[in-house]
Amino acid sequence: MNAVCPKCGSHNVQTYAMAHKSGVGTSVSDTAGVGVTLGGDVGYGVARTQSVHVSQIAKETAPPSAGCSVTGCFVMLPATIGTLVGILAFIEWLFVIFDKNPDFPPIQGFSPRDSLLIGTLSTTVISVGCFAVAFALSKAFTPSLKKAAEEHKREVDDWANSWICLSCDHRWRKG
Ligand SMILES: [Zn+2]
Repeated sequence: MNAVCPKCGSHNVQTYAMAHKSGVGTSVSDTAGVGVTLGGDVGYGVARTQSVHVSQIAKETAPPSAGCSVTGCFVMLPATIGTLVGILAFIEWLFVIFDKNPDFPPIQGFSPRDSLLIGTLSTTVISVGCFAVAFALSKAFTPSLKKAAEEHKREVDDWANSWICLSCDHRWRKG
């Protein structure tokens, strides 16, 4: 590793990815421990200080979470409902096509066959309607969804290019 801390000149530096990985869990590297201790956390047990501080570093260097944006979930919800109702409609169409009557009670005033047809058609309409809503929403929210995706990509890029000095705790970005 030929990276050097621009602040203190130490070679004891890591990318955020490396720092996060080595800081997660119980395996704490000695290098990280010494560096952290020199960073100002000299105190009681070195080992104890290590594990506490290193897990803190792991937290601070964690990759940005993609998450589900509120807008994204808002668009996904009608599409999900549309899919579920669509599966139901598909099953009903099978009943219609193979001329079978399911066991659910017929609608009052209609024969079982007509009831099935009415049920099948309305389920189909609801499913298509859900997709139409999802489509309209995604159209309306495409710019903000795009912006959120770009924002996230930038955050990931920033994170991927971020370094931390384990000697002086300095953080900087390359590139
Ligand atoms: Zn440094």
